[in-house]
This record gives sequence, C-alpha cells and structure tokens, in this order.
Amino acid sequence: MARYIFITGGVVSSLGKGIASAALAALLKARGYKVRNKKLDPYLNVDPGTMSPYQHGECYVTDDGAETDLDLGHYERFTGVSSKKSDNITTGQIYWSVLTKERRGDYLGGTVQVIPHVTNEIKDFIAAGVDDEDFVLCELGGTVGDIEGLPYLESIRQFANEKGRENVMFMHLTLLPYIPTAGELKTKPTQQSVHNLLSYGIQPDMLLCRADRYMGEDERRKIALFCNVKPERVISAVDVDNIYKIPCVYHGQGMDQQVCEYFKLPINQEPNLCSWEGFEKKLDFAKNNGKVRVAIAGKYVVLPDAYKSLSEALFHAGVENGTKVEIDWVNTEEINTMEEAKKAFENADGILVPGGFGSRGTDGKMLAVQYARENNIPFFGICFGMQMAVLETMRNLVGVRDAVSSELSKEGTPVVSLITEWEKDGRIETRTKNSDMGGTMRLGGYPCHLEDGSKTKEIYGESDICERHRHRYEVNNKYENALKENGMIVVGKSPDGLLPEIVERPDHKWFIGVQFHPELRSRPFEPHPLFVSFVDAMKK
Ligand code: GLN
Repeated sequence: MARYIFITGGVVSSLGKGIASAALAALLKARGYKVRNKKLDPYLNVDPGTMSPYQHGECYVTDDGAETDLDLGHYERFTGVSSKKSDNITTGQIYWSVLTKERRGDYLGGTVQVIPHVTNEIKDFIAAGVDDEDFVLCELGGTVGDIEGLPYLESIRQFANEKGRENVMFMHLTLLPYIPTAGELKTKPTQQSVHNLLSYGIQPDMLLCRADRYMGEDERRKIALFCNVKPERVISAVDVDNIYKIPCVYHGQGMDQQVCEYFKLPINQEPNLCSWEGFEKKLDFAKNNGKVRVAIAGKYVVLPDAYKSLSEALFHAGVENGTKVEIDWVNTEEINTMEEAKKAFENADGILVPGGFGSRGTDGKMLAVQYARENNIPFFGICFGMQMAVLETMRNLVGVRDAVSSELSKEGTPVVSLITEWEKDGRIETRTKNSDMGGTMRLGGYPCHLEDGSKTKEIYGESDICERHRHRYEVNNKYENALKENGMIVVGKSPDGLLPEIVERPDHKWFIGVQFHPELRSRPFEPHPLFVSFVDAMKK
C-alpha cells in the first residue's frame, strides 16, 4: 500500500513547497522507492489552462494532455516520473464533479455539503491514479489558514485517520526569519503556524524551516519542544544558489532517513545520490566556465516563472555543454523596426521565440526571426515561435505580404489556421471556432516522424519522437512547397503526414522551429537534445 506524505505551508507563500516536495521525492527515489507527486490547488479554476501566466506562472502540460500547475514541472525534473492528469487537483474540478453527481441524482435527495461531499471527493482524488507507488507526496497549495484551503485540511486529516496514522506523514514548511538587530533566527512564526495547523486537527510529523542560514541546535530544540516534533525531524531548508543542490542539502540533515524511520522502513542503506552529486559538480564547473547569451523574445518577460520550463531546459543544456546560459528577456512589444531589433539582439549569441498567445508583440517577434535569419544567428522557435518563423518566411521571402495566423486576424492569407480535426490515439478529436477556451487545444504528447537527412533527426538520433503540445493553430501543409523553395524545410510531421511539426533552414547555422514544447521534457540528468544542440551552436 502506498504511504502518503502531505506537505503544507505556513507563515508566508513562495517558500518553495513544490521544490521541497520534489526534492524529498527525489531522495526517496534514490532509496529505490517508487514515488508519485501530486498537487492540490485550492483555487476555483478547473485547471490553470485559462489563467494568465502573470497570475500563476507557466502552465505545465503532461503527456496525457492535462494543463497543470508549474510545480508538476519541478516534480518531473526532480524525479524523472511523468506526471498524469490525476496528479493535479483543483477546487474547480472537485466542485465540477460534485455538481455533476448532484445533477445526475447520485445523492438521492440528500443535502449536498462541503462535509462530507466535497471532502469525500477530495479524498477520492488524492487516491486516484495511484498504482503500486511506495510513496505519494501530496502538496497543498496556499498557506494554512487560507479560507479556500480549509476543506483540504479537513480532508487530509480524515484521510490520515482512515488510512492509519502510521501510513501518513504530515510535513509542514515554514519560515524562520533572521532579524539582524537581534542577530538571530526567529521561531515564533513557525510555532504559530503549527498551532494554526493543530487547530484543524493536524499535528505535523516533520518541519522544514526555510531560512537564509542553518538554524542552531538551540533553535532546533526550541521548535521541536513547542511544536511537538522530534528535534531530528526539524530540518533547515536553507537557501542555496541552485535548486538542484537541495536534495543533497536535505539528505545531509538526515531527512530521508527520518522519513523512512517514521514509516518503519529500513534505514541502514544509503540512497544512491551519484547523479545528484555528479550534476552538482557539473553545474559548479559550468558556472565558472564562460557563458552564452540567449535573447528570449516574448511577452511575459517580467515574470520568469511564466517560462519556467524553458529557462530550466536552457540551464540543463548549459550544464551539459559546460557553460553558463544567460537569458536576456526581450519584450517584443517594444520592437517595431529593424533598428530596434538590431539594438535588442546584437549582443545575443542566439535568439529564441517561445510559445505565446494573441497578437500583442507579434510584429516584434517576426522582426526577431528576420534578424536571426539574415544575420545567421542561431534561432529556436517554439510553438508560437515556430508559427512566427513560418509567417516571416511567407511574408518576406515567398512574398505573401498578408500571410497571417487566424489567431491574429480574420483578414489576410491564413497560413497558420485553426485546426478543427485531428487524430488522438486512433480517435478523431474535433473543435469549432466556438469551442470553450479551457482544455480544448491539441494537448499532450503526440508522435512525430522526422525526415531522413535532416539536422533535427541527427540531433534526436532517432526517426520517431513524441513531444508535448499545447496549441490551437497549425501551419497549413499546403504551403510546404512554397516554404521549401525559400529555404525552409518541413522536416517533422504527424504520422499521417498532415500536420507540419518541425521546420528548419539547412542554409543557416542553426534555425529550427517546433510546433511542440520540448522544454517540458528536459530534465537535469536528461537534458533535451534540441536545447543541448542549440546551446552548442551558440557557443560556436
Ligand atoms: N497561440 C498559438 C496556438 O494556439 C501557439 C500556442 C503556444 O505557443 N503554446 O496555436
């Protein structure tokens, strides 16, 4: 039977619960256990698919086509385990399900209430999709005491009572602020946060205390005493210069051993942390061994979390190449002329146009593509970025001056247009112009066949790949020849040959556009080949 670890947060938000959950899962995996991470999100959206990246950061897409919280990206990167639709639960989904049952008459005349109907639904969701995992780590979004989080606290309390307290561990992440005038780390907010948690019937079994320095023995003992936790189970979540150092920092304080002890599992065997230690060495080397500058020409440039997986993928590829990758975020709304493009990109070793939605900033994106093409600067177009690259060639080289995506304008020649029918797992999926916005894109992993002799095939080292998608529009394959005559070759297509998935320019140093999101599959120990090759090209 799976053992459950619930991770809650207190004092303030943004303490890094997602990374903490991911790091603990990585340690348990390194001990040979099968792990799964889940995220409970108390907001009312059904999923983050319709939320602005400014509000919630990137929307992470799973292989099975769910639009999820960006923490699922951390889980995958730290554990290598592919997330599933059932790994991210929101209040919106819970209520959707409860209300559907109510309309169907499933509650047979009963009054439908938060307790027990909503809490039962939450408990079912927590256990859903769990097979033979040894550990399920379940992170609760928000901080203890948030009104919308209350049904979740009640649910996990009940869950522990039903599964048996010995099969469930509660871990609480808090903040230890350092007060310079007093010269000490303060434990009171942690104590109060734990009291708050206790008022919902939850006694934490382990505390993870975020601070800018390690706590001393006195502080540890004080927290343990007042919070009713063993001192060995009060762990310093100390700031580090790179998130991939966290598993080793936790292990150094015996965290995974304490978890095993709690669940009465053998502790004499050490976890295998070779890959983590190896990666740490490689990243420290890369940090001090030259750098490349990539300009990311996008829209949400003031909030790096909006492109979390992208910056991680570039980082992984940098470490693999033994170099630091510096990102220059360029707001394409401020680029209206070639002179402005030159100013923005002349110091870049490479230009990347990432995924995006809507017409704002698109002229600047097309200028970014043109600048990269004309100056032989490595160019990587991802999803929207690939569409921009295709439109740039159509407009400037093929001569179809009004080439457009139907997402951007109803007028002009729709070279990129709404796709209304495609195949998924042998079934035909259909959409119309009037379909809902939420959950109706081409989402998740789709196979793609690569052309012999292409650079992309050489980079992947195989002919058939599967990559994750999240888009509504597609390049119309009837323009394939026109593009080809102007140097842009479609080198990857859906297996039925209908959907262009990858374009490249053989006459260029490195110019690749992909309709999917390769960054979602990059992991520190398995950097994505396209990013590795792109960084390599920038280095040269
Ligand atoms: N807006 C484009 C589409 O829907 C691209 C989406 C993306 O970049 N993820 O097709």
